[in-house]
Amino acid sequence: MTTAVHPFVPFSPPDIGGAEITEVIATLESGWLSTGPRVRRFEQAFAEYTGAAHAVALNSCTAGLHLSLLAAGVGPGDEVITTPLTFCATANAIVHTGARPVFVDIRPDTLNLDPERLGAAITAKTKAIMPVDLFGLPADVDAVKAVADAHGVPVVEDACQAWGASYKSRRAGSLGDLGVFSFFPTKNLGGFGDGGLVTGHDAELVQTVRELRFHGSRDKKTFTAIGFNSRLDEVQAAILRVELEVVDTWNARRAQVAAWYDAHLPREVLRPCVPEGYTHVYHLYMMRHPRRDAIAAACKERQVDCAAYYVTPCHLQPVFAGMGHKLGDFPATDAAAAQNLALPMHPNLTEEQVKEVAAAVAAGLG
Ligand SMILES: *Cc1c(COP(=O)(O)O)cnc(C)c1O
Repeated sequence: MTTAVHPFVPFSPPDIGGAEITEVIATLESGWLSTGPRVRRFEQAFAEYTGAAHAVALNSCTAGLHLSLLAAGVGPGDEVITTPLTFCATANAIVHTGARPVFVDIRPDTLNLDPERLGAAITAKTKAIMPVDLFGLPADVDAVKAVADAHGVPVVEDACQAWGASYKSRRAGSLGDLGVFSFFPTKNLGGFGDGGLVTGHDAELVQTVRELRFHGSRDKKTFTAIGFNSRLDEVQAAILRVELEVVDTWNARRAQVAAWYDAHLPREVLRPCVPEGYTHVYHLYMMRHPRRDAIAAACKERQVDCAAYYVTPCHLQPVFAGMGHKLGDFPATDAAAAQNLALPMHPNLTEEQVKEVAAAVAAGLG
């Protein structure tokens, strides 16, 4: 692997190797470009990897979240519980179904949906719970599922940032009723454009997503639902299947880079929390400190590209102003939004480079 980019960027673009290029050419020469045999092969390989029985590839994670909720029967007047500390697409997908997002605060340590706060948010209108495996750490899905099961609602896991992560020996994306992934180029398993995928254990539920992906039809002749065009192209599937074989190695390198950060960052900086039984895949290495902005400025001065995430969490975004939320409604989310800083994280970083970043962070602390 070569470092073609400035080392201190938050992400590296996907590696374009000989194997990917060979697959792309073979796909173009096959003449079959829209969803076809390569998509099916990728779906099978992905389901096997994840440990879910079924997989449907789509053209984005956003489509995957939307169609998963529709398949789960979510619609106008319903409520879906999710975290406010996520990319806005998570909450938007709920609105696309006609349902209303209900935000529940995160755990201050893991930054994932707090299962202990779920009970109070459940109403007769709750139709699904959507935890997010934030920054590469799976949510506490067993605890979320226990609450969901008690109320008879499904769990749709937004695993966009957690490809390859695990929880009690089970892979992210196989923990809820449906799991949703993104292959946007910056994700751990990134394609050469947009892509997404839904995994699930229940054949009927996944089949419904499959039909919604193609205009609401099973056989392309009979149309039984108002569906969408959410297909994944063959070229993307071909590339992704090749990457599926190597991305575990990239995740292992990310874990090594994270271990270097853990060792070299100043002591007062809060590191990502990895509870017992979890594997983190460090989609982002998210440090936290109350003097985040000073650290970010010092990093910028030294050309270390770092980024704060979800500084305005979903509940405070203009698009959700109608919900009437204010700063202080979700204190753990507000604190995380004010203190987080993603340091450069990609498989090609060296320990020397990590030490340079750590020195920039130290300089920011004065
Ligand atoms: C990237 C991301 C999405 C959206 O994925 P797309 O493939 O770009 O639609 C949704 N949720 C989370 C948590 C993400 O990180």
